[in-house]
Amino acid sequence: GPLPMRGAEQPPPLLSFEFFPPKTEALEQQLWACIRRLAPLRPRFVSVTYGAGGSTHARTHATVARLARETDLVPAAHLTCVGATRGEVDEVARGYWDAGVRHIVALRGDPPPGTEYAPHPGGYAFASDLVAGLRRIGDFEISVAAYPETHPAAPSPECDLDNLKRKLDAGATRAITQYFFDTATYLRFLERCLAAGITAPIVPGIMPVSNFAQAVRFSAMCGTKVPEWLGHLFEGTEDDPDIRRIVAAIVAAEQVRTLQANGVDEFHFYTLNRPELTYAIAHILGVRPQCAAEVAA
Ligand code: FAD
Repeated sequence: GPLPMRGAEQPPPLLSFEFFPPKTEALEQQLWACIRRLAPLRPRFVSVTYGAGGSTHARTHATVARLARETDLVPAAHLTCVGATRGEVDEVARGYWDAGVRHIVALRGDPPPGTEYAPHPGGYAFASDLVAGLRRIGDFEISVAAYPETHPAAPSPECDLDNLKRKLDAGATRAITQYFFDTATYLRFLERCLAAGITAPIVPGIMPVSNFAQAVRFSAMCGTKVPEWLGHLFEGTEDDPDIRRIVAAIVAAEQVRTLQANGVDEFHFYTLNRPELTYAIAHILGVRPQCAAEVAA
């Protein structure tokens, strides 16, 4: 049946938005237009990713530092351990602290394609080690990654859950999930987290999909199952980007409404530096733009 409407008495959820650091002047313009569009939705924080193996270090830093300097948004910098010594990673973290950035999304990072992950000699081996290292540098707020469908390299779902617990015990205060399409899997994961004694928020990562073929390729790499029904929904839209976007909005809106109906009140959006789908889905969740005066009141 139809989902219950959000009751007027229920407060709107907390949102966060994820961006990637721009590579060109044109992409930089696109990112800042996106940030200006989404800023009035008053996200809890906005995060900027760290390119594979730290390849975007300078661009991530520049974007996060500009967010800290020029906006009243709370910026969060993604930071990975792969391919770097502890000293190098610590220096990046100290640079964020000095720029006034107080929130880090602490990750292990992925090895170069086609290779197995191996810790850098003298590096942080896993994200839990990075979290512990960050705690020694400053009083950062720290978010970590969680995998409702289990991280592809984990020996078992139980080991992966233990790892999540280690990251939170080391000082992280929130987990953000890999994106997923099977909402029931996420809800079961929440129950497993609770049973394991995890009380920190496990914020669902929402990926509005407007390019299905690309999503299939990407999901194969990160261990997200693409349900058959999703393929059926996009069937025949290959040459029709407008229709694909409408379908994408409906799929994501249904997902967030189902989560909301199950008590989820915090969402993290993978914006891909495009505001429209995120804005529309936030609107459906009951999040509306606020002016500064309303926020202060
Ligand atoms: P970890 O928590 O360290 O876990 C990695 C694997 O090791 C898991 O399988 C875990 O079960 C296993 N493990 C952990 N500890 C041990 C141990 N002691 N012994 C044996 N096995 C162990 N990547 C980027 O490069 N840049 C980004 O900006 C970025 N942002 C992301 C944001 C989110 C919200 C998510 C979900 C992922 C992001 N990633 C990013 C991808 C991430 O780097 C990869 O998924 C990576 O493979 C795992 O990172 P992790 O922090 O989850 O690793």
